[in-house]
Amino acid sequence: MTAWPVHAAWNGPIVMIGFGSIGRGSLPLILRHIDCERSRFTIIDPDASWSHLAEKQGITFIKEAVTRQNYRKLLTPLLTAGPGPAFIVNMSVDVGSADIVRLARETGSLYIDTVVEPWTGFYDNPRLDNAARSNYVMREDIMALKRKLGAGPTAISCCGANPGMVSWLVKQALLNLARDLKLKAAEPATREGWARLMRQVGVKGIHVAERDTQRAKTPKPLDCFVNTWSVDGFISEGLQPAELGWGTHERKLPFDGRRHRSGCGAAIYLTRPGADTRVRSWVPTAGPQFGFLITHNEAISIADYFTLRQGRKVVYRPTCHYAYHPSNDAVLSLHEMFGAGGKRQSAAHILEENEIVDGADELGVLLYGHRRNAYWYGSRLSIGEARKLAPYQNATGLQVTSAVLAGMVWAIDNPAAGIVETDEMDFRRCLAIQTPYLGSVIGVYSDWTPLDGRGKLFAETLDKRNPWAFSNIIVR
Ligand code: NAD
Repeated sequence: MTAWPVHAAWNGPIVMIGFGSIGRGSLPLILRHIDCERSRFTIIDPDASWSHLAEKQGITFIKEAVTRQNYRKLLTPLLTAGPGPAFIVNMSVDVGSADIVRLARETGSLYIDTVVEPWTGFYDNPRLDNAARSNYVMREDIMALKRKLGAGPTAISCCGANPGMVSWLVKQALLNLARDLKLKAAEPATREGWARLMRQVGVKGIHVAERDTQRAKTPKPLDCFVNTWSVDGFISEGLQPAELGWGTHERKLPFDGRRHRSGCGAAIYLTRPGADTRVRSWVPTAGPQFGFLITHNEAISIADYFTLRQGRKVVYRPTCHYAYHPSNDAVLSLHEMFGAGGKRQSAAHILEENEIVDGADELGVLLYGHRRNAYWYGSRLSIGEARKLAPYQNATGLQVTSAVLAGMVWAIDNPAAGIVETDEMDFRRCLAIQTPYLGSVIGVYSDWTPLDGRGKLFAETLDKRNPWAFSNIIVR
């Protein structure tokens, strides 16, 4: 039996909101690596299908939905039960992150989530225009809260695999590249220092490039959305407008691209859903592939973090976006849903670890446009490895839940950091905690560019002078 290290201790209440695929997978890692009192651990979810997993650990399960109307009354007594401050682990859908972060501050609690989640009714509100339904706007709200609240108990925004771990991978990948390019550069100590190194290395852009090859034992049935993680979460984000951090090497806004009128200005959105927008990208096992340009917080936070300004003028920023090839069943599910005019299937199913025959989740960052062309750095975790490492999750889930664990440990080590994004955290410490759960962590160079194989059989308008221009990457 493996002797797992205990990374931290927590003697106050732990309140987990949401016990879906990510909450369930996080639980065994928290209990394994954080020394805590189970009688002070509470899980809240309106769906009690899995409550036995909590109860057999001596954890209290409350079958209730956290809502805009009840969250203060429901959560405050749990958060203030003592003896120490509480830790809120928000692993739900439909529970507004910003309000829970405010409550965490008021009660002196630590906080972590994996996305900026709005209250129910936001994603499909027809009265909101595309800009208002963007992750950019939701992130700006959290950034405004960060400025307003200032120093105080740590609240980590968006600490899953992506957003989350990929921000740590970007820094390690950048250092690896600088080393391989034989640049004389010390490890940066400030945000500006990291942005300067990114520019010095010559990175034009970053894909969060993922391929999920996990295959189910039973093929996807008709009229059922199948995914390897939250179906609700994936459909919600997939129907938001496509968004990307907009780099300084880009010359022309896409015809359906729009800028925001306020905020940091790091990203643009397209007037179409991300899950119906394909981009060309590259991962080690599959090589060149299509991915979906699903909007994600990290596309904006990474682009913002690595922005360099002279005065108010932006002089450097990498383009950054997600390029996600989900499991084949999820690709077929999207095809079916968009084919039906965006109408959601009548059934939904998340593949559990015992329903998967084989496959892996390859999730990393592709830094492109520099002297070595492109460098992918990330995790390749097979379903077989995931099963051996931890219960109640597939490979996709474990990449997320191990990041939640790393974030919680970092928060306990740094309890007064205020609201932080993963870009601002100690990437070495977090990756050290997470790496035992990531399968192979590899760095691979590639000669591929989005111009490969193009313009031969069919004439295309290509930007040959700037192979990595977004206009070459997007599939029109
Ligand atoms: P899931 O759909 O499996 O589970 C969500 C759970 O939230 C369900 O059990 C549901 O009953 C519960 N829930 C719904 N409304 C609630 C409410 N009002 N109060 C309390 N609980 C409520 O989703 P999942 O796969 O576990 O994902 C959870 C969250 O994590 C989602 O927001 C998802 O987008 C996010 N996520 C982030 C990453 C990342 O890498 N950053 C990866 C996967 C998932």
